[in-house]
Amino acid sequence: MIGLGSIGKGTLPLIERHFKFDKSRFTVIDPVDTDAKLVRDKGYRFQKVALTPENYKNILTPILSAGEGQGFVVNLSVDTSSLELMKLCRKLGVLYLDTVVEPWPGFYFDENASAADRTNYALRETVRKEKARKPGGTTAVSCCGANPGMVSWLVKKALVDIAADTGTKFKEPKNRKGWAKLMKKTGVKGIHIAERDTQRAKQPKPPNTFWNTWSVEGFLSEGFQPAELGWGTHEAWKPKNAKSHKKGCNAAIYIEQPGANTRVRSWCPTPGAQFGFLVTHNEAISIADYFTLENGKKVSYRPTCHYAYHPADEAVLSLDELFGAAGKVQKTLHVLTEDEIRDGTDELGVFLYGHKKNAYWYGSQLSVEETRKLAPNQNATGLQVSSAVIAGMAWALENPEAGIVETDEMDYKRCLEIQMPYLGPVKGYYTDWTPLDGRPGFFKEDLDKNDPWQFRNILVQ
Ligand code: NAD
Repeated sequence: MIGLGSIGKGTLPLIERHFKFDKSRFTVIDPVDTDAKLVRDKGYRFQKVALTPENYKNILTPILSAGEGQGFVVNLSVDTSSLELMKLCRKLGVLYLDTVVEPWPGFYFDENASAADRTNYALRETVRKEKARKPGGTTAVSCCGANPGMVSWLVKKALVDIAADTGTKFKEPKNRKGWAKLMKKTGVKGIHIAERDTQRAKQPKPPNTFWNTWSVEGFLSEGFQPAELGWGTHEAWKPKNAKSHKKGCNAAIYIEQPGANTRVRSWCPTPGAQFGFLVTHNEAISIADYFTLENGKKVSYRPTCHYAYHPADEAVLSLDELFGAAGKVQKTLHVLTEDEIRDGTDELGVFLYGHKKNAYWYGSQLSVEETRKLAPNQNATGLQVSSAVIAGMAWALENPEAGIVETDEMDYKRCLEIQMPYLGPVKGYYTDWTPLDGRPGFFKEDLDKNDPWQFRNILVQ
């Protein structure tokens, strides 16, 4: 396991609970050894080192090729190249899983790089290229956390619910094209990965600190990247600073402004209408790409897809402080542990809109109280991620020669079956809400009244 941060610490006890393995060969790698005791007390090895482009082959190869059986790398770190680690593992015949396409340090904050070069689109394209270059072979699961990850499984389940509830004639699709056809048939125009984290810290956040419920470093990296979204065929308007890519799958556009300072109108069951941040995420691109239909060279259907994230209130305050100070990052970065949290729920689901029943949210409503009963060392946000890691690992063990896969390509029923016990209530909600509700208010607005589900109405301008 690479990385013993908030997700690594939560995943460790679940790996022990779900898998049989040779204890003497379990190794955890992290340059910070604050929590090494958690590992060493169990009789596992802890190696205090930062993986770098220069040392990763020499460090990992002996660990992964000693003894018998097949190795497994679970990459839960920041600042390591997912692509390079994945390539090494496949060369050695070792299974691999990560939760983001992470680059070596320098990528996210390279002032000389263009905005296009700093996108998740660019990162995902590197993995797509490798998949095309070396199809098949040892399984490497790309981006298998909660989001990206679990949400791709939830999209399929939500789509089947909508098809059934709208009386759409269908058989459960068996391949990508079939799924895309079904989404088109139900009339879905777009998807928000709609999240509301209401976990509250026991103490209020002091000034000049960034508090979050998962990696602050991870959140800052993606938050400073350009806002990005899978770009649907129903869209009739683009923001002036939106750009498309010259190469690759072309399923997404990016906006030349930081995602963590870009707000969208969205909806979750508990708050109802809410603002979310359009932070770039791999799944916004992979889901839009997966559900694309083509007619010859022309795209005939694609849903819009993006994140609409309302983080914990302490993180929203932290972002406000940071962008108010022209992007100057706070002195102290802190991930709230489950005992520092008073109460709250991470409501994380998919919101499919534009169909006959208007809009449907389907997802997990996991509270921190329930999390404490289910698994140690993590808050609700962490358990949604670590349980997706476990589901992805189980799937990889059952499908060891599937090549490089994204979660959109995995068996969603099998993965959700494994993950479900850790997600708290998992429910679907229809709503009449649209982003035109209550608008315009006192002031004129630039609206498209013909179609409530245009991005023009969703983006807070
Ligand atoms: P964290 O910041 O708490 O932990 C990251 C760990 O990586 C730290 O312990 C750090 O010391 C270690 N690390 C740093 N540089 C390293 C290197 N060169 N070699 C090895 N280890 C190194 O982060 P987290 O909250 O545990 O998140 C871990 C990863 O999971 C991040 O990449 C994050 O973006 C991702 N994540 C994905 C999801 C999802 O749903 N897909 C959700 C949360 C986090």
